[in-house]
Amino acid sequence: MHASPRHARKDEYPGPDAGDGTDAVIQAIARRPWPVQMLEMLEMTPDFVAIMDGDGWLHYLNAAGRRLLGLAQDEEICGLRLEDCHPPKDSARLLNEALPAAHRDGVWHGESTIKTADGRALHVSQIVLAHGKSDGKVTLFSTIAHDITECRHFLDELRRQTTHDALTGLPNRVVLAEHLDMALARAQRGRMLVAVILLDLDNFKRINDSLGHAAGNELLRGVALRLKSCLRADDIIVRYGDDEFTIVVSELHCAENLLPLLQKLRAALAQPLAVAGQEVFAGFSAGIALFPNDGGTPPDMLQNADAALNRAKASGRNQYQFYAPAMNARGQELLALETDLRRALEREEFTLHFQPQLHMCAGRIAGFEALLRWRHPARGLVAPSEFIPLLEETGLIVPVGEWVLRRACEDSRRLRDGAGNPVPVSVNVSARQFGDHRLVDELRRILRDEAMPPEHLELEITESTVMQDAQTAGEILGALDGLGVRLAIDDFGTGYSSLAYLKRFPLTALKIDRVFIQDLPWEDNCAALTEASISLGHRLGLEVIAVGVETGKQMQFLRAHGCDMIQGNFFGRPMPLEEAARFIAGRRHPEASAA
Ligand code: C2E
Ligand code: MG
Repeated sequence: MHASPRHARKDEYPGPDAGDGTDAVIQAIARRPWPVQMLEMLEMTPDFVAIMDGDGWLHYLNAAGRRLLGLAQDEEICGLRLEDCHPPKDSARLLNEALPAAHRDGVWHGESTIKTADGRALHVSQIVLAHGKSDGKVTLFSTIAHDITECRHFLDELRRQTTHDALTGLPNRVVLAEHLDMALARAQRGRMLVAVILLDLDNFKRINDSLGHAAGNELLRGVALRLKSCLRADDIIVRYGDDEFTIVVSELHCAENLLPLLQKLRAALAQPLAVAGQEVFAGFSAGIALFPNDGGTPPDMLQNADAALNRAKASGRNQYQFYAPAMNARGQELLALETDLRRALEREEFTLHFQPQLHMCAGRIAGFEALLRWRHPARGLVAPSEFIPLLEETGLIVPVGEWVLRRACEDSRRLRDGAGNPVPVSVNVSARQFGDHRLVDELRRILRDEAMPPEHLELEITESTVMQDAQTAGEILGALDGLGVRLAIDDFGTGYSSLAYLKRFPLTALKIDRVFIQDLPWEDNCAALTEASISLGHRLGLEVIAVGVETGKQMQFLRAHGCDMIQGNFFGRPMPLEEAARFIAGRRHPEASAA
């Protein structure tokens, strides 16, 4: 028993009859009605009850108190002090704070800890009362302590649950707000910097979609552990959203001091994580805002780190980006655009333009590429490069892409009705749309609803989309091929293709990107690459289309090297449906055609 009176300084103990008034109190109790019953009550209560003097020497301890401290019921308590009941910090607080307060106010109420004989620490709600003599002098203090350990654990657990993320165990946004508030105040006093790093996993959605939610969760837990291991004790990492984490780095002397941490974070995720029996890489993009330059309050700092993160993601992922004020203006513009974009479908502001694709030899129309256009009520015609990335980011590309597919089939029918023979169309399918498991079923429905012969519909999928996860892409391409549609690789040459996969995929065409065509024929590299692409396409049994043909010389070069089809402003810009119908009619009567 660590509360043993054997360790007390017995020689200092003044004894019960030391003239300190103990007897007077007991006699006073005895003179009152029901003294025996009251003593019985004290002995029976499960609460810890003690009487002590102003120096902390115990004069009375009830049965519950004796049990807790491991004393026999008849054991002498003389020589037992407050320090024998409480840990040093609590006993010092009771002596220096609680007893003087009770002396002054008559009563003190607070929480402390009782150390029990079996080594437990009981959390107690405690009350200390001061008892005076008739002359008004305080002579004794009584204390009642009620065990609230369970309640305390329950409250601690409740607080933990409301302040921590259940999946990763990291603190959540509630803690972030408190921590950031304090970190900024401290930094202001010490004239230091604070960094807020907002971090987003680049390929989380893909892993989650392909390996399942359990694997996604496993990945998040692994990432959280690795990132946390890079931080100092004063810094915190918080789970901010699905696959977003926020790190607050306090007390930086200069921005450069952040760089070693950024390198450490990158290195921490450079090694693959084992998830669902597979090794996966978790690259991330990060946006960074620095106090005081990039914001004076937690919401400003978070908003600006978010603007920087968006810029990091837009500029190719796997990047860091420090906040720059211009980002907010751009961010606000994007936000306004996004709001408008969400309404554009129902307001029927989208339309399709059609750019002809011609067979090289006979100059016959092979078909049209359907290109999305947005007629914004105030901005006019918005270029696809401005709104398609935003459609991708917001996921709106899925419903809009479905609309494009349906409308392209409808318009192909209208053109066919006018021309008297089938007019094939090509439709661009974005990465997000391609990865959406509903695509195949949706396309089947559209082909059926629009009575579209599948061989007259071509889907263009960019090289980078297909090669990002070639295995999954192969499965999706296989399912699309099963519907009978044609499949073309778009932007060929701008990414990185695996020949093994190109050979295996059920492709029908390969579209050489405009960047190679625009410098033909004088730029040697472009010429060599175009030539190689044509011959590669043919060896793989694919039709080759060159996009962006603007001059006769370019066409001659492509013809000389056996390119099958051409598309470009030289023959026809993207045009509305009615114009496309006239273009078809003009081609049938060549004298009316300019090209
Ligand atoms: P893309 O699929 O490579 O389409 C060809 C782009 O090159 C079109 O730009 C077209 O107007 C342009 N182009 C063709 N010939 C020439 C030429 O001779 N000179 C010049 N300067 N440009 C030429 P556009 O219409 O601005 O579309 C840009 C990109 O937006 C498309 O590139 C495609 O990636 C995307 N896009 C357009 N419509 C859709 C759509 O419905 N869905 C998806 N997911 N993406 C689309
Ligand atoms: Mg295209």
